[in-house]
Amino acid sequence: MDEQLNFAPCGYLSLDDDGTILAINETLLNLLGHNLHELQGKHIDLILSNASRSFSQLYFFPMIRLQKKVEEMYISLKSKTDEEIPILLNACRHERNGKMCNDYICVPMKRRYEYEQALLTVKKETDSCNQLKKKQIAELDLLRLELESKQNELLELNEKLQTLAVTDGLTGLKNRRYFQENLTLNVALHRKRLEPFSLLLIDIDHFKSINDNFGHMMGDKILEEFGRLLKDESRTNDIAARYGGEEFALILPNIDKSGALKIAEGIRLHVENTNWNLPNITISIGVATSSSNDTESAIQLRADRALYTSKNRGRNQVTHASDLIRSLFTD
Ligand code: GH3
Ligand code: MG
Ligand code: MG
Repeated sequence: MDEQLNFAPCGYLSLDDDGTILAINETLLNLLGHNLHELQGKHIDLILSNASRSFSQLYFFPMIRLQKKVEEMYISLKSKTDEEIPILLNACRHERNGKMCNDYICVPMKRRYEYEQALLTVKKETDSCNQLKKKQIAELDLLRLELESKQNELLELNEKLQTLAVTDGLTGLKNRRYFQENLTLNVALHRKRLEPFSLLLIDIDHFKSINDNFGHMMGDKILEEFGRLLKDESRTNDIAARYGGEEFALILPNIDKSGALKIAEGIRLHVENTNWNLPNITISIGVATSSSNDTESAIQLRADRALYTSKNRGRNQVTHASDLIRSLFTD
């Protein structure tokens, strides 16, 4: 046997068809703890473990005869001291010098278990890392959902705050600030598109006496009830607002003088005909309709003076600013 094969880094073995060892290299002899004379010319069974012997007879030898080669077979050899040595085997079958030879190379697999264990450990670690990662992703998802719901809550809260900022707490109508902003908007729209609008200033008559005779709480209830009534009487685009204590305002977009007077009279009658469970609740109304080059303060002043006139003329009535004597505006 040449030197290189004799000391190759894997075992080499050649058998005839009877299983007699024709050649064996030093590497394999060292692995088994035998010398050449103890094995050459002997039967392979001498170095096979019991399990491998049956396996070889039933499976391995018939297979190499049939296929002429065997690859990656795991079997156990037996050392001189009866120690089992697991090996990985590749074999091929040739004709040499007119005789069939079965050549084997074998690599000890002692370390395989250790490698497998190491691989298993790494795999376990990877699995647990993956699980941790999955858990963390799930936790992150939960946090993201929580964040989203908190953001939504914040948005809702913001919306509520915005609504609150423009709403009168007692009546639920728009507050004075919102009214002023909307009046400015309507004046600007009139200038731009010449769309008229009307403004109603409404004041509950003798409200002080309601407070005095029936208490402040009852006064509040009347204000609330009147707020509802005003809301019911207004259209979607109208702005119904609480202007001051017992004073209210209604902005009526696209409503001219006659339309505004009809609406004002309707509200006045509605109040008069409502059963308040109290004696005689009535309102006075001042109406003004926008004119070109109008300003917020001018139209407000006109409506206020019309309201003052309604009060002066005996209350429970509607006055339009344009029906007042011109001198009233110029003093
Ligand atoms: P007039 O017909 O001239 O308008 O008489 P009035 O009594 O309605 O007018 P006055 O301005 O003398 O009194 C208004 C009263 O409205 C005085 C105030 O105590 C009351 N008031 C203002 N705001 C509130 C409120 O929020 N709740 C209650 N209950 N009363 C209020
Ligand atoms: Mg008043
Ligand atoms: Mg009043």
